[in-house]
Amino acid sequence: MRFTYVTLFSNLIEGYFQDSILKRAIEAGHFDVGYLNPRDFSASKHAKVDDTAAGGGAGMVMVPQPLFDALRTLPADAHIIFAAPVGKQFTQNDAKRLATKQHVVFVSGRYEGIDERVIETFADEVFSIGDYVLTGGELPSLVMTDAIVRNLEGVLGNSESLDYESFETPLLEAPTFGKPAVYENMAVPSEYLKGNHSKIHALKSSLSECKTKFFRPEQLLKHKIRTSYEK
Ligand code: SAM
Repeated sequence: MRFTYVTLFSNLIEGYFQDSILKRAIEAGHFDVGYLNPRDFSASKHAKVDDTAAGGGAGMVMVPQPLFDALRTLPADAHIIFAAPVGKQFTQNDAKRLATKQHVVFVSGRYEGIDERVIETFADEVFSIGDYVLTGGELPSLVMTDAIVRNLEGVLGNSESLDYESFETPLLEAPTFGKPAVYENMAVPSEYLKGNHSKIHALKSSLSECKTKFFRPEQLLKHKIRTSYEK
């Protein structure tokens, strides 16, 4: 799989691939990354990429020409995603679906955003990573990349770890514990330590329900799930 980042600040993105799981995944050939800087495509004398907004208003807007010329260099099979606060909320299902693409392109806005004509012309999808406004699309592009590549075969050491994660089912993951069994007077639930897998599974299911009800009750409503203690 290939990712291309269309950004004025590729150095903000590059660092994330220089350590840990994503670094190893690139070294193992699971995916590779490339960058396009709209500034390199600017036809203006001073490589300008922004201008004041038509109709007035605060701040600068990324103008069409450098982005049109940059995006036109991409191959036809590239799946182009714009990061924007107005986009559809990015979810785990999107991450899994996009992991099946050959080539995903993330376009990062800066300033007050990107001229709408660029988005209208090139966007296959527009995603927001949450209801807040960041200074640029680089972090959202990395957030989406990270969520996607975890779903590529071979990227995680143990692919079973995907099966029980939050959002794989409507319920959030049950609490996890490590060692020691007691730490500062707080004990791991004793059932976790007895090795009876069906009992551990049953306990984890009910803890998943409790956790979902506490943190994300709307998930239960959305999937029309009644918790076992409500049945
Ligand atoms: N004026 C825009 C608005 O109110 O919707 C915000 C522009 S923001 C300062 C600059 C860029 O950051 C956007 O073009 C987008 O690429 C990125 N961005 C900011 N917040 C984001 C979010 N929650 N999700 C995805 N991208 C975001």
